[in-house]
Amino acid sequence: MPSELPGEIRDITVIGAGPVGLSTAFWAGMREASSRIVDSLPQIGGQLTALYPEKWIFDVPGHPKVLAKDLVESLRRQAIEQFDVPVHLETTIQSIDWEDDIVVLRTNNPDFPELRSRTVIIAGGHGAFEPKKLPGYDLTPWEGRGVHYLVGSKSEFAGKKVLIIGGGDSACDWVVNLLHTAESVALCHRREGFRAHELTVNQVMQAADDGHVDLHVPFQIREVSGNGAIERVRLFHSEDDSHEIEIEIDAILLQLGFKTALGPLKNWDMEISKGAIVVDGVMKTNLPQVWACGDITTFEGKLKLIATGFAESAIAVAQAVHSFRPEMKIQPKYSTNTGVPGGDGGQP
Ligand SMILES: Cc1cc2nc3c(=O)[nH]c(=O)nc-3n(C[C@H](O)[C@H](O)[C@H](O)COP(=O)(O)OP(=O)(O)OC[C@H]3O[C@@H](n4cnc5c(N)ncnc54)[C@H](O)[C@@H]3O)c2cc1C
Repeated sequence: MPSELPGEIRDITVIGAGPVGLSTAFWAGMREASSRIVDSLPQIGGQLTALYPEKWIFDVPGHPKVLAKDLVESLRRQAIEQFDVPVHLETTIQSIDWEDDIVVLRTNNPDFPELRSRTVIIAGGHGAFEPKKLPGYDLTPWEGRGVHYLVGSKSEFAGKKVLIIGGGDSACDWVVNLLHTAESVALCHRREGFRAHELTVNQVMQAADDGHVDLHVPFQIREVSGNGAIERVRLFHSEDDSHEIEIEIDAILLQLGFKTALGPLKNWDMEISKGAIVVDGVMKTNLPQVWACGDITTFEGKLKLIATGFAESAIAVAQAVHSFRPEMKIQPKYSTNTGVPGGDGGQP
Protein backbone atom coordinates (compact mmCIF):
# COMPACT_ATOMS: atom_id res chain seq x y z
CA MET A 1 0.00 0.00 0.00
CA PRO A 2 1.29 3.49 -0.78
CA SER A 3 2.64 5.19 2.36
CA GLU A 4 1.22 8.60 1.52
CA LEU A 5 -2.02 10.45 2.00
CA PRO A 6 -4.21 11.60 -0.88
CA GLY A 7 -3.36 15.19 -1.88
CA GLU A 8 0.33 15.03 -0.84
CA ILE A 9 2.76 16.99 -3.00
CA ARG A 10 5.96 15.08 -3.75
CA ASP A 11 9.08 16.41 -5.44
CA ILE A 12 9.03 13.81 -8.23
CA THR A 13 6.39 11.43 -9.54
CA VAL A 14 8.02 8.55 -11.38
CA ILE A 15 5.83 6.92 -14.02
CA GLY A 16 6.89 3.27 -14.33
CA ALA A 17 8.28 0.77 -11.83
CA GLY A 18 10.63 -0.96 -14.25
CA PRO A 19 14.36 -1.05 -13.46
CA VAL A 20 14.79 2.51 -14.66
CA GLY A 21 11.80 3.83 -12.68
CA LEU A 22 13.21 2.14 -9.57
CA SER A 23 16.64 3.64 -10.16
CA THR A 24 14.97 7.04 -10.68
CA ALA A 25 13.42 6.78 -7.20
CA PHE A 26 16.84 5.73 -5.85
CA TRP A 27 18.54 8.80 -7.33
CA ALA A 28 15.73 10.99 -6.00
CA GLY A 29 16.46 9.66 -2.51
CA MET A 30 20.19 10.29 -2.94
CA ARG A 31 19.41 13.90 -3.92
CA GLU A 32 17.14 14.28 -0.83
CA ALA A 33 14.05 14.64 -3.00
CA SER A 34 10.78 12.91 -2.16
CA SER A 35 9.30 10.69 -4.85
CA ARG A 36 6.52 8.23 -5.57
CA ILE A 37 6.29 5.50 -8.21
CA VAL A 38 3.21 4.57 -10.24
CA ASP A 39 2.76 1.48 -12.43
CA SER A 40 -0.18 -0.09 -14.21
CA LEU A 41 1.03 -3.62 -13.40
CA PRO A 42 0.31 -5.38 -10.09
CA GLN A 43 4.05 -5.86 -9.45
CA ILE A 44 7.21 -3.79 -9.71
CA GLY A 45 10.01 -4.63 -12.17
CA GLY A 46 8.56 -3.74 -15.59
CA GLN A 47 9.77 -6.03 -18.37
CA LEU A 48 12.05 -7.94 -15.96
CA THR A 49 9.09 -9.14 -13.92
CA ALA A 50 6.55 -9.39 -16.72
CA LEU A 51 8.68 -11.05 -19.38
CA TYR A 52 11.81 -12.72 -18.00
CA PRO A 53 12.02 -12.91 -14.18
CA GLU A 54 13.91 -16.23 -14.17
CA LYS A 55 16.47 -15.31 -16.86
CA TRP A 56 20.09 -14.42 -16.23
CA ILE A 57 21.17 -10.93 -17.22
CA PHE A 58 24.87 -10.74 -18.08
CA ASP A 59 25.37 -7.09 -18.99
CA VAL A 60 24.59 -5.05 -15.91
CA PRO A 61 28.08 -3.89 -14.91
CA GLY A 62 29.03 -5.03 -11.43
CA HIS A 63 26.96 -8.20 -11.77
CA PRO A 64 28.77 -10.92 -13.76
CA LYS A 65 25.31 -12.44 -13.97
CA VAL A 66 22.10 -11.71 -12.12
CA LEU A 67 18.60 -13.18 -12.31
CA ALA A 68 16.15 -10.53 -13.52
CA LYS A 69 13.95 -11.00 -10.43
CA ASP A 70 16.99 -10.65 -8.13
CA LEU A 71 17.99 -7.39 -9.80
CA VAL A 72 14.43 -6.12 -9.21
CA GLU A 73 14.65 -7.16 -5.55
CA SER A 74 17.98 -5.33 -5.12
CA LEU A 75 16.51 -2.22 -6.72
CA ARG A 76 13.43 -2.51 -4.49
CA ARG A 77 15.62 -2.59 -1.39
CA GLN A 78 17.94 0.16 -2.60
CA ALA A 79 15.18 2.53 -3.73
CA ILE A 80 11.76 1.79 -2.24
CA GLU A 81 12.76 0.32 1.11
CA GLN A 82 15.76 2.55 1.79
CA PHE A 83 13.91 5.79 1.00
CA ASP A 84 10.38 4.67 1.97
CA VAL A 85 8.99 5.49 -1.48
CA PRO A 86 5.21 5.14 -1.92
CA VAL A 87 4.35 2.79 -4.79
CA HIS A 88 0.98 2.90 -6.52
CA LEU A 89 0.47 -0.37 -8.40
CA GLU A 90 -2.40 -1.22 -10.75
CA THR A 91 -2.58 2.51 -11.37
CA THR A 92 -2.33 3.98 -14.84
CA ILE A 93 -1.49 7.62 -15.35
CA GLN A 94 -3.98 9.00 -17.80
CA SER A 95 -3.62 12.74 -18.13
CA ILE A 96 -1.39 15.61 -17.13
CA ASP A 97 -2.19 19.16 -16.11
CA TRP A 98 -0.41 22.06 -14.45
CA GLU A 99 -1.70 24.13 -11.52
CA ASP A 100 0.70 27.01 -10.81
CA ASP A 101 4.06 25.29 -10.32
CA ILE A 102 2.59 21.86 -9.52
CA VAL A 103 2.09 19.06 -12.03
CA VAL A 104 -1.20 17.18 -11.57
CA LEU A 105 -1.40 13.64 -12.92
CA ARG A 106 -4.81 11.99 -13.17
CA THR A 107 -5.06 8.25 -12.65
CA ASN A 108 -7.60 5.45 -13.00
CA ASN A 109 -7.23 4.67 -9.27
CA PRO A 110 -10.27 5.88 -7.29
CA ASP A 111 -8.20 6.02 -4.05
CA PHE A 112 -5.64 8.37 -5.64
CA PRO A 113 -7.40 9.98 -8.63
CA GLU A 114 -4.86 12.82 -8.65
CA LEU A 115 -1.14 12.74 -7.89
CA ARG A 116 0.60 16.08 -7.36
CA SER A 117 4.29 16.76 -7.64
CA ARG A 118 6.82 19.46 -8.51
CA THR A 119 8.18 17.42 -11.41
CA VAL A 120 7.46 14.21 -13.33
CA ILE A 121 9.95 11.69 -14.68
CA ILE A 122 8.54 9.22 -17.20
CA ALA A 123 10.25 5.82 -17.10
CA GLY A 124 7.40 4.11 -18.92
CA GLY A 125 9.31 1.57 -21.06
CA HIS A 126 7.11 0.57 -23.97
CA GLY A 127 4.07 2.11 -22.29
CA ALA A 128 1.59 0.73 -19.80
CA PHE A 129 1.77 -3.05 -19.75
CA GLU A 130 -1.40 -5.11 -19.74
CA PRO A 131 -1.44 -8.91 -19.98
CA LYS A 132 -3.45 -10.18 -22.96
CA LYS A 133 -6.63 -11.97 -21.89
CA LEU A 134 -7.82 -15.29 -23.25
CA PRO A 135 -9.95 -14.76 -26.35
CA GLY A 136 -13.11 -16.89 -26.52
CA TYR A 137 -13.51 -17.72 -22.81
CA ASP A 138 -13.85 -15.20 -20.01
CA LEU A 139 -11.42 -16.08 -17.22
CA THR A 140 -12.04 -12.83 -15.31
CA PRO A 141 -14.27 -14.53 -12.67
CA TRP A 142 -11.34 -16.85 -11.84
CA GLU A 143 -8.80 -14.07 -11.32
CA GLY A 144 -7.53 -14.29 -7.75
CA ARG A 145 -8.94 -17.86 -7.59
CA GLY A 146 -6.25 -19.66 -9.57
CA VAL A 147 -5.78 -17.63 -12.76
CA HIS A 148 -2.36 -15.94 -13.04
CA TYR A 149 -0.91 -13.65 -15.71
CA LEU A 150 2.47 -12.98 -14.05
CA VAL A 151 4.84 -15.08 -11.99
CA GLY A 152 6.29 -13.00 -9.17
CA SER A 153 8.02 -16.02 -7.72
CA LYS A 154 8.04 -19.68 -8.70
CA SER A 155 7.08 -20.58 -5.14
CA GLU A 156 3.51 -19.39 -5.88
CA PHE A 157 3.17 -22.61 -7.89
CA ALA A 158 4.92 -24.96 -5.46
CA GLY A 159 3.00 -28.23 -5.22
CA LYS A 160 0.30 -27.02 -7.65
CA LYS A 161 -1.10 -28.67 -10.75
CA VAL A 162 -0.47 -25.94 -13.29
CA LEU A 163 -1.95 -25.52 -16.75
CA ILE A 164 0.05 -23.08 -18.88
CA ILE A 165 -1.76 -21.50 -21.84
CA GLY A 166 0.19 -20.18 -24.84
CA GLY A 167 2.63 -21.17 -27.53
CA GLY A 168 5.31 -18.49 -27.43
CA ASP A 169 8.63 -18.05 -25.66
CA SER A 170 7.23 -17.18 -22.26
CA ALA A 171 4.75 -20.12 -22.20
CA CYS A 172 7.54 -22.57 -23.12
CA ASP A 173 10.00 -20.92 -20.70
CA TRP A 174 7.54 -21.34 -17.83
CA VAL A 175 6.92 -25.00 -18.67
CA VAL A 176 10.65 -25.62 -18.27
CA ASN A 177 11.02 -23.34 -15.25
CA LEU A 178 8.13 -24.81 -13.25
CA LEU A 179 9.01 -28.46 -13.87
CA HIS A 180 10.73 -28.91 -10.52
CA THR A 181 8.46 -26.57 -8.57
CA ALA A 182 4.90 -27.47 -9.52
CA GLU A 183 3.35 -30.85 -8.72
CA SER A 184 2.48 -31.21 -12.41
CA VAL A 185 2.74 -29.05 -15.52
CA ALA A 186 0.46 -29.16 -18.56
CA LEU A 187 0.70 -26.96 -21.65
CA CYS A 188 -2.30 -26.05 -23.78
CA HIS A 189 -1.89 -24.28 -27.12
CA ARG A 190 -4.65 -23.73 -29.63
CA ARG A 191 -2.45 -24.31 -32.67
CA GLU A 192 0.01 -26.97 -33.73
CA GLY A 193 3.60 -25.72 -33.42
CA PHE A 194 5.20 -23.28 -31.00
CA ARG A 195 6.56 -19.81 -31.73
CA ALA A 196 9.44 -20.11 -29.30
CA HIS A 197 13.20 -20.49 -29.30
CA GLU A 198 14.14 -23.87 -30.77
CA LEU A 199 16.19 -24.81 -27.72
CA THR A 200 13.25 -24.21 -25.36
CA VAL A 201 10.80 -26.05 -27.62
CA ASN A 202 13.17 -29.02 -27.63
CA GLN A 203 13.31 -28.94 -23.81
CA VAL A 204 9.49 -28.91 -23.66
CA MET A 205 9.25 -31.83 -26.10
CA GLN A 206 11.88 -33.79 -24.17
CA ALA A 207 10.01 -33.20 -20.91
CA ALA A 208 6.78 -34.37 -22.59
CA ASP A 209 8.52 -37.51 -23.95
CA ASP A 210 9.84 -38.20 -20.44
CA GLY A 211 6.30 -37.92 -19.05
CA HIS A 212 6.99 -34.73 -17.06
CA VAL A 213 4.66 -32.46 -19.08
CA ASP A 214 1.21 -33.11 -20.52
CA LEU A 215 0.87 -31.45 -23.91
CA HIS A 216 -2.61 -30.48 -25.08
CA VAL A 217 -2.09 -29.24 -28.62
CA PRO A 218 -4.14 -28.04 -30.50
CA PHE A 219 -6.65 -27.57 -27.66
CA GLN A 220 -8.59 -24.65 -26.18
CA ILE A 221 -10.45 -23.99 -22.95
CA ARG A 222 -14.16 -24.82 -23.00
CA GLU A 223 -14.94 -24.49 -19.30
CA VAL A 224 -13.28 -23.90 -15.96
CA SER A 225 -14.95 -25.19 -12.81
CA GLY A 226 -14.30 -25.52 -9.11
CA ASN A 227 -15.73 -24.76 -5.73
CA GLY A 228 -14.37 -21.28 -4.97
CA ALA A 229 -11.00 -21.93 -6.61
CA ILE A 230 -10.14 -23.66 -9.87
CA GLU A 231 -10.32 -27.46 -9.63
CA ARG A 232 -10.70 -28.65 -13.22
CA VAL A 233 -10.72 -27.52 -16.81
CA ARG A 234 -12.50 -28.93 -19.84
CA LEU A 235 -10.54 -28.54 -23.08
CA PHE A 236 -11.72 -29.06 -26.66
CA HIS A 237 -9.75 -29.97 -29.76
CA SER A 238 -9.32 -26.94 -32.07
CA GLU A 239 -10.19 -28.96 -35.19
CA ASP A 240 -12.93 -31.15 -33.73
CA ASP A 241 -14.81 -29.35 -31.00
CA SER A 242 -16.76 -32.48 -30.02
CA HIS A 243 -13.46 -33.98 -28.85
CA GLU A 244 -13.17 -32.94 -25.20
CA ILE A 245 -10.89 -33.83 -22.33
CA GLU A 246 -11.11 -32.88 -18.67
CA ILE A 247 -8.04 -32.31 -16.51
CA GLU A 248 -7.65 -31.63 -12.81
CA ILE A 249 -5.63 -28.53 -12.08
CA ASP A 250 -5.47 -25.81 -9.46
CA ALA A 251 -3.70 -23.01 -11.33
CA ILE A 252 -3.87 -21.58 -14.83
CA LEU A 253 -0.95 -19.47 -16.03
CA LEU A 254 -1.86 -17.41 -19.10
CA GLN A 255 1.17 -16.53 -21.18
CA LEU A 256 -0.34 -14.86 -24.22
CA GLY A 257 1.94 -11.84 -24.16
CA PHE A 258 1.36 -8.26 -23.16
CA LYS A 259 -0.31 -5.33 -24.82
CA THR A 260 1.94 -2.30 -24.58
CA ALA A 261 1.03 1.10 -25.80
CA LEU A 262 2.13 4.62 -25.11
CA GLY A 263 -1.63 4.87 -24.59
CA PRO A 264 -2.62 7.93 -22.63
CA LEU A 265 0.90 9.47 -22.92
CA LYS A 266 0.27 9.90 -26.66
CA ASN A 267 -2.28 12.62 -25.98
CA TRP A 268 0.05 14.77 -23.88
CA ASP A 269 1.41 16.88 -26.75
CA MET A 270 4.84 15.38 -26.21
CA GLU A 271 7.23 15.18 -29.10
CA ILE A 272 7.16 11.51 -30.14
CA SER A 273 9.37 9.79 -32.71
CA LYS A 274 8.88 6.14 -33.69
CA GLY A 275 6.79 5.46 -30.59
CA ALA A 276 9.32 6.96 -28.15
CA ILE A 277 9.52 10.28 -26.31
CA VAL A 278 12.06 12.68 -27.75
CA VAL A 279 14.38 14.06 -25.05
CA ASP A 280 17.29 16.48 -25.20
CA GLY A 281 20.81 15.89 -23.86
CA VAL A 282 19.62 16.23 -20.26
CA MET A 283 16.59 13.94 -20.66
CA LYS A 284 14.11 16.83 -20.79
CA THR A 285 10.90 16.41 -22.78
CA ASN A 286 9.20 19.32 -24.50
CA LEU A 287 6.68 19.57 -21.62
CA PRO A 288 7.35 21.84 -18.65
CA GLN A 289 8.61 20.05 -15.52
CA VAL A 290 8.66 16.66 -17.31
CA TRP A 291 11.77 14.53 -17.95
CA ALA A 292 12.00 10.96 -19.26
CA CYS A 293 14.49 8.09 -19.13
CA GLY A 294 14.86 4.41 -20.02
CA ASP A 295 13.34 2.51 -22.93
CA ILE A 296 10.65 5.12 -23.50
CA THR A 297 13.12 7.80 -24.68
CA THR A 298 14.79 8.44 -27.99
CA PHE A 299 17.80 10.61 -28.85
CA GLU A 300 20.82 10.27 -31.08
CA GLY A 301 22.89 7.29 -29.99
CA LYS A 302 20.13 5.88 -27.77
CA LEU A 303 20.71 2.36 -26.39
CA LYS A 304 17.78 0.44 -24.92
CA LEU A 305 19.65 -1.22 -22.08
CA ILE A 306 19.21 -1.40 -18.33
CA ALA A 307 22.74 -0.02 -17.77
CA THR A 308 22.19 3.08 -19.91
CA GLY A 309 18.69 3.57 -18.43
CA PHE A 310 20.28 3.77 -14.96
CA ALA A 311 22.61 6.54 -16.15
CA GLU A 312 19.76 8.40 -17.86
CA SER A 313 17.77 8.32 -14.61
CA ALA A 314 20.66 9.91 -12.68
CA ILE A 315 20.76 12.76 -15.21
CA ALA A 316 16.96 13.22 -15.24
CA VAL A 317 16.80 13.39 -11.43
CA ALA A 318 19.70 15.87 -11.20
CA GLN A 319 17.92 18.17 -13.66
CA ALA A 320 14.47 17.77 -12.09
CA VAL A 321 15.74 18.53 -8.56
CA HIS A 322 17.80 21.48 -9.81
CA SER A 323 14.61 22.94 -11.38
CA PHE A 324 12.86 23.40 -8.02
CA ARG A 325 16.01 23.64 -5.87
CA PRO A 326 18.35 25.73 -8.05
CA GLU A 327 20.98 26.02 -5.32
CA MET A 328 21.58 22.27 -5.64
CA LYS A 329 24.54 21.45 -7.86
CA ILE A 330 23.85 19.27 -10.89
CA GLN A 331 26.86 17.06 -10.09
CA PRO A 332 26.11 14.93 -7.01
CA LYS A 333 28.66 14.58 -4.26
CA TYR A 334 30.29 11.16 -4.17
CA SER A 335 28.38 8.67 -2.02
CA THR A 336 31.70 7.49 -0.60
CA ASN A 337 31.89 10.94 1.05
CA THR A 338 28.23 11.55 1.87
CA GLY A 339 26.82 8.07 2.55
CA VAL A 340 23.08 7.71 2.02
CA PRO A 341 21.01 10.74 3.10
CA GLY A 342 19.31 9.87 6.37
CA GLY A 343 20.75 6.38 6.29
CA ASP A 344 23.85 4.34 5.87
CA GLY A 345 27.02 6.45 5.97
CA GLY A 346 29.54 4.08 7.41
CA GLN A 347 32.80 3.14 5.78
CA PRO A 348 34.82 0.02 6.43
C1 LIG B 1 13.25 -10.96 -23.13
C2 LIG B 1 14.04 -9.70 -22.83
C3 LIG B 1 15.36 -9.82 -22.43
C4 LIG B 1 16.11 -8.66 -22.16
N1 LIG B 1 17.41 -8.80 -21.75
C5 LIG B 1 18.14 -7.69 -21.46
C6 LIG B 1 19.51 -7.79 -21.06
O1 LIG B 1 20.07 -8.90 -21.00
N2 LIG B 1 20.18 -6.64 -20.75
C7 LIG B 1 19.60 -5.40 -20.83
O2 LIG B 1 20.26 -4.39 -20.52
N3 LIG B 1 18.30 -5.27 -21.24
C8 LIG B 1 17.57 -6.38 -21.56
N4 LIG B 1 16.28 -6.25 -21.98
C9 LIG B 1 15.73 -4.88 -22.10
C10 LIG B 1 15.35 -4.35 -20.72
O3 LIG B 1 14.39 -5.21 -20.11
C11 LIG B 1 14.79 -2.94 -20.86
O4 LIG B 1 15.79 -2.11 -21.40
C12 LIG B 1 14.36 -2.41 -19.50
O5 LIG B 1 13.31 -3.19 -18.95
C13 LIG B 1 13.87 -0.96 -19.64
O6 LIG B 1 13.49 -0.53 -18.37
P1 LIG B 1 12.42 0.64 -18.17
O7 LIG B 1 12.27 0.79 -16.70
O8 LIG B 1 12.79 1.78 -19.04
O9 LIG B 1 11.05 0.07 -18.82
P2 LIG B 1 10.15 -1.20 -18.48
O10 LIG B 1 10.92 -2.31 -17.88
O11 LIG B 1 9.40 -1.47 -19.74
O12 LIG B 1 9.12 -0.66 -17.38
C14 LIG B 1 8.22 0.37 -17.70
C15 LIG B 1 7.03 0.30 -16.74
O13 LIG B 1 6.25 1.50 -16.91
C16 LIG B 1 4.87 1.17 -16.75
N5 LIG B 1 4.07 2.23 -17.40
C17 LIG B 1 4.18 2.72 -18.66
N6 LIG B 1 3.27 3.69 -18.90
C18 LIG B 1 2.56 3.81 -17.75
C19 LIG B 1 1.46 4.64 -17.37
N7 LIG B 1 0.91 5.54 -18.20
N8 LIG B 1 0.96 4.49 -16.12
C20 LIG B 1 1.49 3.58 -15.26
N9 LIG B 1 2.53 2.77 -15.58
C21 LIG B 1 3.05 2.88 -16.81
C22 LIG B 1 4.76 -0.20 -17.42
O14 LIG B 1 3.63 -0.91 -16.95
C23 LIG B 1 6.10 -0.87 -17.04
O15 LIG B 1 5.99 -1.68 -15.87
C24 LIG B 1 15.52 -7.38 -22.28
C25 LIG B 1 14.19 -7.26 -22.69
C26 LIG B 1 13.46 -8.41 -22.98
C27 LIG B 1 12.03 -8.28 -23.42
